[in-house]
Amino acid sequence: MLTLGIDIGSTTSKAVILKDGKDILATSLVVATVGTNGVSRAIENVFLTSGLRESEIACTVATGYGRQTYEKADYQISELSCHALGVNHIFPEVRTVIDIGGQDAKVISLNEMGRMENFVMNDKCAAGTGRFLDVMATILNLDISRLELEAAKAERIVNISSTCTVFAESEVISQLANGVAIPDLVAGICQSVAVRVASLAKRVGIREKVCMSGGVARNGGVRNAMQEELGVEICYDERAQLMGALGAAIYAANKAGKSG
Ligand code: ADP
Repeated sequence: MLTLGIDIGSTTSKAVILKDGKDILATSLVVATVGTNGVSRAIENVFLTSGLRESEIACTVATGYGRQTYEKADYQISELSCHALGVNHIFPEVRTVIDIGGQDAKVISLNEMGRMENFVMNDKCAAGTGRFLDVMATILNLDISRLELEAAKAERIVNISSTCTVFAESEVISQLANGVAIPDLVAGICQSVAVRVASLAKRVGIREKVCMSGGVARNGGVRNAMQEELGVEICYDERAQLMGALGAAIYAANKAGKSG
């Protein structure tokens, strides 16, 4: 039985095809804002790379910020449940999921069965989200994927004191004008995100093991800073950005399995 999970995020669309609720057959990721053709491109790509056809899919579930925009889905499910399901599939022992996406951050607490028990969320402020990192990468003229490499070269982490993204932007520009080394600044930028999200995480309570999901988890600079802030080891899988789509495909498999 094949199922399709689609995660329509604020900055990226992701798709996963799953076999029998277990095996990931194909994935795709398209960087495009919600409301564009990013979703149809992500779906097209996942079928192209797998050689499968849409008619072979038993059930499709859409999740993410833009899930209501995909009307062909059989179900539309919150990304909180989907990230919980996706992470539980890869790391069954995880009890806390820290999901940082393009415009929000969520900390999800899982029970012994790996199901969502509680959560806290920041969707009001860009600080502590991927947006903050995207803005800073643009100022520094760096690709987002390079931030972790720069952070790893830091000799003295520069503290970013502004809590607001707009003020932090000015702060980074003036640090650059003062000749501060880019790696030291980047490490400070990653630390700033980790500090904000760690304080959110402490509100829900940290239970090990802890995993990071979402696109920002791909940034090793933020993962390392988060480990420092929380004093725990962070589990990470290179498919971190696909966890929501994976969870959606698992949900679809559960539904199709029950009705089939
Ligand atoms: P959404 O679901 O809201 O679209 P994602 O979970 O896809 O968000 O995360 C998007 C964020 O991930 C971006 O804002 C960016 O900061 C970060 N990101 C994307 N690709 C990379 C990468 N290769 N390395 C590091 N960070 C990345």
